[in-house]
Amino acid sequence: MIRVSAGTAACLGLSSNRMDAYPTTAYLLSGKQCLMKCSFCPQRAGGNNVLNRLGRINWPEYSWDEVAKKLVHAEAEGIKRICLQSVRHTDGIETLVRIVDRLKSSSDLPLSVSAWIGDEREAAALIDAGVERISVSIDVINPETYKEIKGGSLQNRLDLLFSCAGKVPGKMSTHLICGLGESEVEALTLIDKLQQAGVAIALFAFVPLRGTAMEGKEAPPVDFYRRIQAGHYLFREKVVEMDSFKFEQGRLVSFGLPEKDLINSLSDGTAFQTSGCPHCNRPYYNERPGGVIYNYHRTLNKQESEKVLAELLGSLKAGY
Ligand code: SF4
Repeated sequence: MIRVSAGTAACLGLSSNRMDAYPTTAYLLSGKQCLMKCSFCPQRAGGNNVLNRLGRINWPEYSWDEVAKKLVHAEAEGIKRICLQSVRHTDGIETLVRIVDRLKSSSDLPLSVSAWIGDEREAAALIDAGVERISVSIDVINPETYKEIKGGSLQNRLDLLFSCAGKVPGKMSTHLICGLGESEVEALTLIDKLQQAGVAIALFAFVPLRGTAMEGKEAPPVDFYRRIQAGHYLFREKVVEMDSFKFEQGRLVSFGLPEKDLINSLSDGTAFQTSGCPHCNRPYYNERPGGVIYNYHRTLNKQESEKVLAELLGSLKAGY
């Protein structure tokens, strides 16, 4: 059996649910309860019965045969990538490689794997098995908060991520969750380093989820998230370097660009769309339909881009 995100299941015809938006990546989830104890996550070790959730999303279970049959035709349903997410388990890399083999026999679509890997050798084994990109999720940006929320050392995971990026260049991704106590200067400094190492970054805003240890915490203010999204995009597109940004008490107050250049760079709204591996749109992982949208899963219309940009510019207060 394998779990499939509710949106993916609807898109592939595994369920008859109608969705407000459909994914462009097929999201699959393998493994039962995770060995990690990340306090924001419903899959954490020792958590209660919310195992059918990861992020805001439900993950119903299907047989491998059902899923394999649907994946053969996934491209016709608008799917452009497959993402296998795996909880940390005791099985070792061989189990993941077996799942990858199975997926590769059903589909030629590029495959991302987001999983706990222990060393560069395991990253290389996944690439040899046909994985196109591997995500080592950092999640928490501040080292102290990392210890509290995830346990263990942020630096150790970063060392692994950077050494994998050297070993399999252009094939590493990571997930960063904003709004877990880090400052904007910390977030953008790490984003800049990762970007320079060729690591693709999937940005998330923290979502307090029922049944987790962090259910009582607040989601971050959207203007905080917009400044980080914009900074990430400006690095990615090589519009500016970190040196031109100005911060006051850890908060970004200027991108160091003339206003018209900043508007030109951000006006199509791409900066505010879901980021990460190519064609990963994760509809409503961060937001409820109808609520504040942190990550747009699609191109923004003109009105939306203008609104987001006006909010961003208004929030900078100082120069651009
Ligand atoms: S960025 Fe998207 S496709 Fe890539 S590992 Fe993360 S969820 Fe999967």
